[in-house]
Amino acid sequence: MTDLFEEANTLFESMRALRRDFHRHPELGFQEVRTSSIVAQTLRELGLEVTTGIGKTGVVGMLEGQRAGPVVLLRFDMDALPVHEETGADYASQSPGVMHACGHDGHTAVGLTVAKLLHAHSQNMAGSVKLVFQPAEEGLGGAQAMIDDGVLESPSPDFALALHLWNEKPLGWLGIHAGPVMAASEIFKVSLTGKGGHGASPHLSVDPLLAAAHVVTALQGIVSRNIAPLEAAVVSVTSIRGGEAFNVIPSTVEMLGTIRTFLPEVRQRVLERFPQIVEGVAGGMGCQANVEITSITPAVVNEARIAQGVEEAARQLWPGQPVDRDFQSMVSEDMALMMQRVPGCYFFVGSANPAKGLDAPHHHPRFNIDEDALPRAAALMASSAVHLLGD
Ligand SMILES: [Zn+2]
Ligand SMILES: [Zn+2]
Repeated sequence: MTDLFEEANTLFESMRALRRDFHRHPELGFQEVRTSSIVAQTLRELGLEVTTGIGKTGVVGMLEGQRAGPVVLLRFDMDALPVHEETGADYASQSPGVMHACGHDGHTAVGLTVAKLLHAHSQNMAGSVKLVFQPAEEGLGGAQAMIDDGVLESPSPDFALALHLWNEKPLGWLGIHAGPVMAASEIFKVSLTGKGGHGASPHLSVDPLLAAAHVVTALQGIVSRNIAPLEAAVVSVTSIRGGEAFNVIPSTVEMLGTIRTFLPEVRQRVLERFPQIVEGVAGGMGCQANVEITSITPAVVNEARIAQGVEEAARQLWPGQPVDRDFQSMVSEDMALMMQRVPGCYFFVGSANPAKGLDAPHHHPRFNIDEDALPRAAALMASSAVHLLGD
């Protein structure tokens, strides 16, 4: 196979134009109507067999190689976030309050470029490529919606690949890790009920705010006391709501937060201890506790042999350049749901450039990437697909 990085670079202008167009016109989860119509049209122009409406606004394009062989699924997410853009870029969002603040505009442009690169080589390719453009990755259930609509059937993929442009790391950095790479995520909702009353007569009330303060502190003991020190877990209380007035003890307090873990046994342990601690501490302070825990996604776990295939592709593209094999993050990704069923690898492509001021974190109003990361991402994705299919 020729140098896919060189080929990706020749497509740079069109890839950047696509990315900037998506950036100007961001669409929230399951509302990616404009984006998905551009995706479908571009894939059709290449002669791919295109199916729309998979998971509402999702699009699937099938690219057949010359010979029979395995099926590889490549997934790219398309949704924006409810963030008001403050980058000041001339291609900034034209939709107030909606912004591509995670880089999914780049992912969509990369996906279309991967389609072009692989299409140009399809006569030498064995097997087929299922290009999956997913809606609503940001917590709205896009992957599940696509699975429900059969994205993992006819044909069912043998391998899956996905990537994220990553602004915590500089341009040139690559994160390819075998094993768990993003965390399982749950949301918890806790309500504590005591007895309201006058702020000046606490002895006549049962104060759920005091109980909440103790609960927040005690919950931190799960990670420090119940989980082995070398394992990873997060328990974050991110919202506490209760009380309106300076002289009134409220009768209830509501708390929200998230639990993140990599390993199923660690997750199980946190989920066991969490209600025990909340109920025990709240009960000790005379309050009633109600705990609701909802699982959002399992962990994203990369299969070693596939991660190795991606790493080999990277070494062929950029000989001598280091690959970070240790990178893991406690963020979550609904690609986990596809990778629970299909072995795969989710890798990260550094996209920050502090010298150009392009290093705001993901989901920040000034988030922006160094667009030189786009051809790197496209080349590595296309090359990894070729590697896994066997050319
Ligand atoms: Zn995000
Ligand atoms: Zn993202």
